[in-house]
Amino acid sequence: MAGYNKRMPQQLNRIVMDGTLNSVRAIDLSVLEKGREADPMEWRIRKVEAVRERMPCHNPLCNNGGFLLGDLIRELVRAGQTEYIGANYCVGQEGDPEKPETLVSCGTRFEVTAAIQYVPRG
Ligand SMILES: [Zn+2]
Repeated sequence: MAGYNKRMPQQLNRIVMDGTLNSVRAIDLSVLEKGREADPMEWRIRKVEAVRERMPCHNPLCNNGGFLLGDLIRELVRAGQTEYIGANYCVGQEGDPEKPETLVSCGTRFEVTAAIQYVPRG
């Protein structure tokens, strides 16, 4: 994938495997990256199985960046929230990882809209 941040550590798609989504019947998720060399395309997920643990940050200066989508979804599902609109900052840092004094938080943010329907209980 062009522009994919290769320094991002590979991670298991935990959110699909950890049972969080078992209670989710339907999801409609859109994520728009805003920042240096951000992906101009809005990322749209309308299938529960398409949810990902982490989305990449495209800032070429960013180390270990990305948006922890899985953490957000876990939080929403735990709270039984059906709607969410918010901005979430990249967890990465710009600078030289060998020189901690050069590191600053990545300024990329991810604008998220989510609608979640749950499996009826009973
Ligand atoms: Zn970043």
